[in-house]
Amino acid sequence: MKFLTLENGYLGAVIEDTAVDLGAAARELVATLPAETLLDLVRAPEGAAAEVWAIAHRAVALGVACRPLAEVRPLAPIPSPQRNIFCLGLNYRAHVKEFEKNQELPDAPIVFTKSTTSIAAPGDDIPAHTDVTQGVDYEAELALVLGRDGRDIEPADAWDHVFGYTAINDVTARDLQKTHKQWFLGKSLDGFAPMGPLLVHRSVMPAASEITVRSHINGELRQDSTFDNLIFDVPTIIATLSRGATLLAGDIIATGTPAGVGIGLDPPKFLQPGDEVIVEVTGVGPLINRVAPG
Ligand code: MG
Repeated sequence: MKFLTLENGYLGAVIEDTAVDLGAAARELVATLPAETLLDLVRAPEGAAAEVWAIAHRAVALGVACRPLAEVRPLAPIPSPQRNIFCLGLNYRAHVKEFEKNQELPDAPIVFTKSTTSIAAPGDDIPAHTDVTQGVDYEAELALVLGRDGRDIEPADAWDHVFGYTAINDVTARDLQKTHKQWFLGKSLDGFAPMGPLLVHRSVMPAASEITVRSHINGELRQDSTFDNLIFDVPTIIATLSRGATLLAGDIIATGTPAGVGIGLDPPKFLQPGDEVIVEVTGVGPLINRVAPG
């Protein structure tokens, strides 16, 4: 089961290369749609995804409310989340070492957030923000979207709280990140969280070793790892974030970036106006954004 947010903000499903406008499909088929938006679906009781999926299949079979996926320009799967994106810092071994040579591996998950207003759609330009930063960098990441509230979640139960996963580019102003110690400012500039295009349901999520997390800059492969290389795995992340604090259905957790970011190169290579950035997480489709021309 794969979903997206259509241009108009409403819920869509993707079956192979076909996108279904679920609102239109439900009207045509006189079916009851349990959610109008992808955020509604994520927050809906378990089972809603399967109901929606059944409507999508009927629509494809009858050829109603369908069009080629290539003709859709989706928004971010969750374009306006209810609160900041949770993010893991330094969560792949090789990335810890490239970030600072003598950096020790973290003993506990490092967590920061990005503002909701940093979210951008696939295809949107990444603003260069040349008036506030000279060090714009990319970070390809797998992002989880939670489907169930919870507090004090046991690691063994953590996956039950995951609706699915998508891709995020945790774009970072490295100079602001360094100057202000806390990372929030350098991570939260407008347009610094392109996300999508698809949200893949947990029921069809491949094994961690089968999910690659990659980035290409102007066609050059920069990051290339698999999701089983995390220092702190998904159960540990969710258990840690929910200790004494409630996680909500609809929350987004960016799980960290592998080695190969611009600041880790010698000399560092920051993004420049016009650069094309592609983040690819297995199953999600390419997340393509260009840095806005100066
Ligand atoms: Mg990151």
